[in-house]
Amino acid sequence: MLPYLQINTDITHLSNYKTPATARYYFEVNSEPDVTKLSEIYSFCRQQDIPYLVVSWGTNMLFAFEEYRWVIIKNNLLGWSYDTQTKVLKSYSQESIWDIAQELEDDYRQDLWHRFIGLPGSIGGALFGNAGCFGLEIQHNFVATQVYNLESGKIEAWTTDDMAFSYRNTKLKNSNGKYFIVSLEFDLSEKKEKYHSDIDNIYFREHKQPKWNSCGSFFKNPSKDQPAGMLIEEVWLKGYWVGGAYFSEKHANFLMHDGQGTYRDMLELIELAQTKVQERFGIRLENEVRIIKAK
Ligand SMILES: Cc1cc2nc3c(=O)[nH]c(=O)nc-3n(C[C@H](O)[C@H](O)[C@H](O)COP(=O)(O)OP(=O)(O)OC[C@H]3O[C@@H](n4cnc5c(N)ncnc54)[C@H](O)[C@@H]3O)c2cc1C
Repeated sequence: MLPYLQINTDITHLSNYKTPATARYYFEVNSEPDVTKLSEIYSFCRQQDIPYLVVSWGTNMLFAFEEYRWVIIKNNLLGWSYDTQTKVLKSYSQESIWDIAQELEDDYRQDLWHRFIGLPGSIGGALFGNAGCFGLEIQHNFVATQVYNLESGKIEAWTTDDMAFSYRNTKLKNSNGKYFIVSLEFDLSEKKEKYHSDIDNIYFREHKQPKWNSCGSFFKNPSKDQPAGMLIEEVWLKGYWVGGAYFSEKHANFLMHDGQGTYRDMLELIELAQTKVQERFGIRLENEVRIIKAK
């Protein structure tokens, strides 16, 4: 047993859904020296035959368990800077992407990341899943990331070619948690976007999206013409409840938790939506949010 692992920790608050959960082992990464302990944790997990999970802001994961035998690794690496001459942004992975985007505008008159104002979660979590909104994706101004390889115990520098970005996907996401994102670098000298949108993102987030216990859009959009929210609405599940879980009346693809239910309610509702959409449209809805099932 590693002396720095905490035992039996309540981690309910670490996922934005706040379904009740505890972790057998828990570790916080508060500094760069803490990062080097992750390879020991990796070896410990292999010896014990238990998995581990990195959590940053928890705005994109559903804990689908109550007592978790895993090691939960909580990221707390903070600090960022912006160079007004080179227009290079450098940040540790736990910084809020929303706060960075807001401060770039307010303090540096840099509005290239305006679309990220209102996007919850960390900059590292955004990189992991190639987060994006209103035409702008994290990949667009990305230069490099320093990742810690838990297997080799070495830091690696990844550039765009290494990342293999696609829609809400990256190579990091397909690496079985082998890499911990330490820091990131972006070049904000040129505006790049996937498509142009005239939507006012701040108004949209404030008025068209529900607040409280959600992780944003639960399912990926099968296509631009068939967004998941529309399909859920068409099978009459907008506003539908199972126990403490429901699809929001404001936005049908927002799976919500009322804070009183359990992960079982959430899974039942997710499966119901997948079955009904499959039966009616022949489309398999895939989650954008990661469901963490107990081993
Ligand atoms: C109200 C709301 C609206 C949203 N709108 C959008 C939207 O418009 N577009 C969009 O793309 N997303 C959206 N999301 C989802 C969310 O904002 C993003 O996915 C966010 O980038 C996730 O960051 P996080 O820190 O919460 O990651 P977490 O949920 O903590 O983790 C997500 C995944 O990344 C991994 N991970 C996190 N940090 C690290 C790290 N340092 N090293 C290695 N792996 C790591 C985790 O293991 C996990 O698999 C929304 C969420 C909410 C709640």
